[in-house]
Amino acid sequence: MTVELRSRVPDGPIEQKWERHRFEMKLVNPANKRKFDVIVVGSGLAGASAAASLAELGYRVSCFCFQDSPRRAHSIAAQGGINAAKNYQNDGDSVWRLFYDTVKGGDFRSREANVHRLAQISVDIIDQCVAQGVPFAREYGGLLANRSFGGAQVSRTFYARGQTGQQLLLGAYQALSRQIGLGQVTMHPRTEMLDIVLVDGKARGIVVRDLVTGRIRSHAAHAVVLATGGYANVYFLSTNAKGCNVTATWRAAKRGALFANPCFTQIHPTCIPAHGPHQSKLTLMSESLRNDGRIWVPRQKGDTRRPRDIPASERDYYLERLYPSFGNLVPRDVASRRAKEMCDAGHSVVPGGHGVYLDFRDAIQRLGQPAIAERYGNLFDMYARITGENPYEVPMRIYPAPHYTMGGLWVDYNLMSNLEGLHVIGEANFSDHGANRLGASALMQGLADGYFILPYTIGDYLAQANLTPVDESHSAFRQVEAEVAERTARLLGVNGSTSVDALHRELGRILWDRCGMSRTRAGLEQAIDAIHELRDRFWKDVYVGGKGEDLNQALEKAGRVADFLEFAELLCEDALQREESCGGHFREEYQTADGEARRDDARFSYVAAWEWKGAGTAPMLHKEPLTFEHVHLAQRSYK
Ligand SMILES: Cc1cc2nc3c(=O)[nH]c(=O)nc-3n(C[C@H](O)[C@H](O)[C@H](O)COP(=O)(O)OP(=O)(O)OC[C@H]3O[C@@H](n4cnc5c(N)ncnc54)[C@H](O)[C@@H]3O)c2cc1C
Repeated sequence: MTVELRSRVPDGPIEQKWERHRFEMKLVNPANKRKFDVIVVGSGLAGASAAASLAELGYRVSCFCFQDSPRRAHSIAAQGGINAAKNYQNDGDSVWRLFYDTVKGGDFRSREANVHRLAQISVDIIDQCVAQGVPFAREYGGLLANRSFGGAQVSRTFYARGQTGQQLLLGAYQALSRQIGLGQVTMHPRTEMLDIVLVDGKARGIVVRDLVTGRIRSHAAHAVVLATGGYANVYFLSTNAKGCNVTATWRAAKRGALFANPCFTQIHPTCIPAHGPHQSKLTLMSESLRNDGRIWVPRQKGDTRRPRDIPASERDYYLERLYPSFGNLVPRDVASRRAKEMCDAGHSVVPGGHGVYLDFRDAIQRLGQPAIAERYGNLFDMYARITGENPYEVPMRIYPAPHYTMGGLWVDYNLMSNLEGLHVIGEANFSDHGANRLGASALMQGLADGYFILPYTIGDYLAQANLTPVDESHSAFRQVEAEVAERTARLLGVNGSTSVDALHRELGRILWDRCGMSRTRAGLEQAIDAIHELRDRFWKDVYVGGKGEDLNQALEKAGRVADFLEFAELLCEDALQREESCGGHFREEYQTADGEARRDDARFSYVAAWEWKGAGTAPMLHKEPLTFEHVHLAQRSYK
């Protein structure tokens, strides 16, 4: 296969690119839309919004998710908010400022044209969601309220208490349900996509496993959309829902789709610290808390006094000290690294060395407890339930944890991968966030992709693709079904003695230690060797149990962990080749005197898009150069 990386960014002034492109793209006339079948894998914010919008346009849509209801997609967990350049606060925001902040926040490793389009569309998303009835918080006068998130000096984050994702997903879900009711969308819950099917090099369908009966079957279509979310669970412990995985995108990668920037992973600074070796999940404390919470550690190392007994003069509000302009609202990568640094230097407030305080004392004194409860009540309750401590009375204890993945399948400006007909949206694509995503911008991107971009660009593809009629009887489907069945049987056949979770936990430890918040050449090389060894052990000793023709959650997990074990190696390879520090990718060898990330724009200003070359063969790196005409390339400063 010859790989061609064409970003297809339209010509013309950046402000007009999307407008012009929409005019120049080919249209499918309304009567012809009924003749096209589109598969959407995923029912989170990206998938549900895309499936509903495509069906509304008249396409016949089949939508798949592995949960029992599309409403349970991981998007429901999003807490803090969604960005939009509405400038309701009149505090200096604009489309241009959101564009600028996002390119800078991503440490200059994203495509300018995509990010500008995202900022333009952000304002439409809010209108769409309000029209759907999403209950965003409002000011006394009735206007929608905003709060601040990291990496911005304006308040542009719209929110519904600490449940923004849930409310947005209910909006998208009701639009989806309407189309299910009208017969335009066929919903397939509890169904896992295990491979894609290419005919003449074009994506023409998927092979799935019914998670209740175990039946393996095919679905054909004219185009396939992956909206399957991110892969932070490769670290085992993360803030993601337990089911999040890399399977859909990795299987597509093994069929020729390029995987971009896999090493750009986000470690979120404010999570409840891990408390023991048997924990299976970490909990996020939303970034919105940094609006009012102040982060600090005791100045004295190993200080074991209760926080309230440590006077202000003996506290180090290190983010406010180091970054006076942004203070506690520096971007996530910066806040995470600094927390690690403080703890490594002995200032941790958690026994074992991994925690800093997030303290609301001053905000409660200033605003009163009811105001804080109104803003963050559900988050405070969640913290109290998990830790047994009352955050209205004592500071929260937090530590960074894997949270989001900026890497994903490579897509062009039309959100199509290098495989024709395979579109990728939401967290599953390599997206607009470069090397570090700013808070509240994932929901914005997922909904921009699903409601406002894909519905145009997929039409452009379908109008010109010249597709031959293909259905599930095509031999390509038989071939892939056989491969999926063989793999399932192989997983069950190992019949070893180690549980899937135990092996996954080991993988997570390797990655967290050597490809987590900071990385070195030696550590990454060790990680690659250790992953090889663990993968061999997995295929010799994993115990799955049960059978394939049944509900079998251990089997589901085993398939996902087998994919993580292959993918993890690519993640480390990517981190190894990127000899610079940028955003979430911090190579210790490349830092400034004061410990900030040192990019190397001359050598690494590109998207790293990897081609799978088969088991045991090194993957091939393709580079999409990045140019910056509108945002001046500079070392990021939040001081
Ligand atoms: C705790 C938490 C809080 C967050 N808070 C915010 C926030 O406040 N603001 C913000 O902007 N972002 C936030 N994020 C990030 C944001 O929630 C996600 O990036 C976003 O929701 C991802 O949406 P998605 O539609 O791309 O994927 P998801 O919501 O993860 O949906 C993936 C879908 O794909 C399906 N799927 C996956 N694989 C398969 C397969 N093989 N076969 C069939 N179906 C499959 C799943 O069933 C699911 O329906 C938060 C993330 C976390 C973890």
